[in-house]
Amino acid sequence: MKLLKLILFFAFTLHGLNAQNHSHSGAQPLTYPDIEGFKTLKTDLHMHSVFSDGNVWPTIRVQEALRENLDAISLTEHLEYQPHKADIPHPDRNRAHNLALEEAKGHDLLIIPGSEITRSEPIGHSNAVFISDANTLLHDKAEDAFAAAKKQQAFVFWNHPAWYRQSPTGNPVLSDFQKERIKNGELHGIEVINSLDYAEESLALALEQNLTIMGTSDVHGLIDWDYTENGKHRPITLVFAKEKSVESIREALFAGRTVAVYNSLLVGKPEYLKPLLQASVKINSAAYHDDTQVLAVEIENISSSDLLLENASPYTFYSNAPIFTLKAGEKMTLQLKTLEKLDSTTLKLRAMGAYTAPKEHPVLEWAIRVE
Ligand code: ZN
Repeated sequence: MKLLKLILFFAFTLHGLNAQNHSHSGAQPLTYPDIEGFKTLKTDLHMHSVFSDGNVWPTIRVQEALRENLDAISLTEHLEYQPHKADIPHPDRNRAHNLALEEAKGHDLLIIPGSEITRSEPIGHSNAVFISDANTLLHDKAEDAFAAAKKQQAFVFWNHPAWYRQSPTGNPVLSDFQKERIKNGELHGIEVINSLDYAEESLALALEQNLTIMGTSDVHGLIDWDYTENGKHRPITLVFAKEKSVESIREALFAGRTVAVYNSLLVGKPEYLKPLLQASVKINSAAYHDDTQVLAVEIENISSSDLLLENASPYTFYSNAPIFTLKAGEKMTLQLKTLEKLDSTTLKLRAMGAYTAPKEHPVLEWAIRVE
């Protein structure tokens, strides 16, 4: 009897511990430093609600974005694909946006009006954002929808160009339709990251066609289930804007000032990706170990991305691997063998998780003043 009690006691205790272990951590607010001259805004400009093929009410999208500390979102419902229409009839295609706008009142979150123009390949899917009226984008011919978006001065980007349901090789194919849209000034950006998918080939296209580099979640279910529960953040586009406003984000997107981010993966043109990474790593201190020529340099990652870094300086490390991860929000000490005592030097690291072009990683430099 005593033994049974003991067993029951342990069984309950263990159960209690287990229950604790099962509790997953909640959404971590995202943070990235500003770069010189610009505010770094965290945006997700591709998502769905029940007003097209998503599974949540638009207000949930606002609440999710607030939990992740985003600066701007857009509800980009499929104009032409409305599987819940019988249950949720909404002749006004601006309805999801307006509900989100109402929910965001009193919060520091910008809601950008958008719609997804949806066709099968080779036209594919594209988002028009900063539109003035979604209803007038509804046209039989895709050409007319793009022309209407241009009339509204919308910023238009090509969605998941590498999606294997539309391009079975998993590589983007630039069709005559897209070439024509680019020529007409009706297509301005391209997703290089869509949900879990990053395509180097899409990055190559972005650089070749001078399209703005985008990263989006394209979420249909819950951010929590798709990302947070797995210890991840959703993909976002960092926009380098002159100020935090809808108009300023629009200007920055047309100017191509973005970096697409999915956790430790960062993709962008060198003129924006390099200063972002530079600002993300702070040098806290640098001092020689007593009577040695080994320089201890404390570095800190103030961004929300784990950074995979490789030593690219002329000095080798003492008791550090040449490739290492500097975790988001964490500090670590590198030990440089400078062979002689220096007053100042340069820390040079290659960001292995960051891409300025396919297979190209930026090399970053920080000036170090020895204490
Ligand atoms: Zn979509």
